[in-house]
Amino acid sequence: MTDIEELLLSRIRDVADYPEPGVMFKDITPLLADPAAFTALTDALAEIVERTGATKIVGLEARGFILGAPVAVRAGVGFIPVRKAGKLPGATLRQSYDLEYGSAQIEVHAEDLSAQDRVLVIDDVLATGGTAEASLQLIRRAGAQVAGVAVLMELAFLDGRSRLAPALDGAPLEAL
Ligand code: AMP
Repeated sequence: MTDIEELLLSRIRDVADYPEPGVMFKDITPLLADPAAFTALTDALAEIVERTGATKIVGLEARGFILGAPVAVRAGVGFIPVRKAGKLPGATLRQSYDLEYGSAQIEVHAEDLSAQDRVLVIDDVLATGGTAEASLQLIRRAGAQVAGVAVLMELAFLDGRSRLAPALDGAPLEAL
């Protein structure tokens, strides 16, 4: 493990049985509160922006906003929020995806994405991959290109990586 991986891992708090029994919640608030760790994470994600040639970042509500916004500033690219349905005031594209029980919808402002954009999706945790998959579908429906997905953590036992593969269509999934 690299020094940076060790630093980041040491600042993630495992909270058992939150928000419901059986879930090990990965709490990144200790990392956000530590400027050295937050800066190291921002730098590592900005490096992925450069490596993938991304021209825009999509951040997934809500922790993808916290991580994605400083990365966009650092990398000199635009930031676009993908929000839960009903939160964006303008004309949106909406995508539904399946949850364990029921379904959820996310939205993006349609005018924020165009065919010229190469978009990197940023979030804190990749679990089942459902949210990231739906965001890639939104990006493609908007006519933009997918540069990849970058997350702080991948919960490998849930195999979100396999679920994402078709929507990634060869673009990288990077888990720090
Ligand atoms: P999924 O769509 O299943 O990949 O879930 C991803 C979203 O749920 C991300 O936005 C995460 O922030 C959140 N999430 C899922 N599982 C966890 C977990 N164990 N700890 C923290 N956040 C999680």
